[in-house]
Amino acid sequence: MITSRTMPEELRILILEDNPADAELAQRELEKAGLSFVASVVATRWEFHQQLDAFDPDLILSDYKLPGFDGISAMRIAVAERPEIPFIFVTGEMGEERAIDTLKEGATDYVLKQRLARLVPAVERALAEVEEKSQRRRAEENYRTVFETTGTAMCVLVEDSVVLSANQGFKRLLGYAAGEPEPEVRFKQVVSRGGPEVEDFDRYHRKVLSEGGRDPVFFETRVVHRDGRTLDVLASMGRLPGTRNSVLSLIDVTREKKYEGELKERAERLRDFLTVASHEIRHPITVIKGYTEMLGDGDIKIPEDMVPDIYASMNDAADRLTRIVTELMDVSRIEDTGVELDMTSCETKELVLEAAADEHGARAARHVEVEVLSDPGQVMVDRARFMFVLEQLLDNADKYSPEGSPVSVTLEAGPDGPLISVLDRGPGIPESDRERVFERFYQVEDALHHSKPGMGLGLYIVRQVVDAHGGRIWCEPREGGGSAFRFSIPK
Ligand code: ADP
Repeated sequence: MITSRTMPEELRILILEDNPADAELAQRELEKAGLSFVASVVATRWEFHQQLDAFDPDLILSDYKLPGFDGISAMRIAVAERPEIPFIFVTGEMGEERAIDTLKEGATDYVLKQRLARLVPAVERALAEVEEKSQRRRAEENYRTVFETTGTAMCVLVEDSVVLSANQGFKRLLGYAAGEPEPEVRFKQVVSRGGPEVEDFDRYHRKVLSEGGRDPVFFETRVVHRDGRTLDVLASMGRLPGTRNSVLSLIDVTREKKYEGELKERAERLRDFLTVASHEIRHPITVIKGYTEMLGDGDIKIPEDMVPDIYASMNDAADRLTRIVTELMDVSRIEDTGVELDMTSCETKELVLEAAADEHGARAARHVEVEVLSDPGQVMVDRARFMFVLEQLLDNADKYSPEGSPVSVTLEAGPDGPLISVLDRGPGIPESDRERVFERFYQVEDALHHSKPGMGLGLYIVRQVVDAHGGRIWCEPREGGGSAFRFSIPK
């Protein structure tokens, strides 16, 4: 009994036979075995060709010699057009050699008419083979679909890391278009340009090949995208059983790595900030505590003329503490609710002159020159916050410049509204820090900058205020040395 899971209940058999009696005999043989089938018997090339398509057979039985046509030609047609259909010669005579040749050319089997009992086992074997082939094909298709549709980038590498086949995810990861053929590269060339990752990759690849790769190896590496970007990837590699090939999957973790780096840096910055802030707070407290103990100690005679200086120092220390607390509260408020503005129309020049004059005296020892290059007139701002920006920039210019060196402010009507520049002849800011000084807690890491009080918050608050006004602030090196902090506020 012929059973087949994928074959239809009723088998369709195309019989190429000029002798109706022979065709009948073959069918009877199959019926005897209990096979359920329908047959179409043809005898000419035209009929054979036509039925191959119209009848859509599951199996072909063919005589070898026919008047006007022949089995070999029929077999060639069938192999070319429907290679999946088993083709069995059922023939009166066929030499051993000829039979072997036909098998080589694609025939499935041959049965001699005088030994027709062999027909059923031959058909069974042919159908089982077809079934097995189609199962294998389906399994391959399934794996191919998984390979292509998984979000993971995957490729098969032959020895020396040549990419044998790559899925869409792999092409996408490295910047190849979907329809493009496999990148003709050795994977090693894609691994981060000659960095230590190449050696690591080699080591893992050797390990996978030498130990049979039963367990995949997992490692982190970097690959270079076609556009030159370097991507961080998580890789896993295992050996394909029975081959010297390995399968490699990559997951792009560039964003996660970047985020991880940022988090690490933030944590470090926060730690530095805590050190800096506690140092900043401890200093004025030490001053106040020292003098109060001295003043409270009845045994110490304080010379009369020292008293005003002592009070001034204590007052400065208290002011410094107040400034620290105000900065911290400002930052906390900004992080919480952003910068809230109370806008009024102000005369820009007046604000600049007032800030430069420094009536509160923190920069009393420094004369600030104001130069009005062109008067921008009125501007809509939060007056107090605008003054804070100016004062903060002037305080920094004063703080980071040597004693006696000039600090100036220029005012002009810029293309986007008033443009104000605070210029000093201090140490300047290295190019790599020029954007970062506006970040929270950021301080330039050199001895000179470090010797000054501060927590790296002033310019952060300044930028938030300027941004809230819709303006722009940046820092440039000043010609002839020093820094130029410039900001513009839209009118
Ligand atoms: P800080 O309170 O530490 O001064 P800021 O946010 O005001 O914090 O400034 C950040 C850093 O930028 C400072 O620590 C300093 O290193 C640098 N900086 C700011 N202004 C100047 C300036 N005018 N000249 C040189 N360096 C400056």
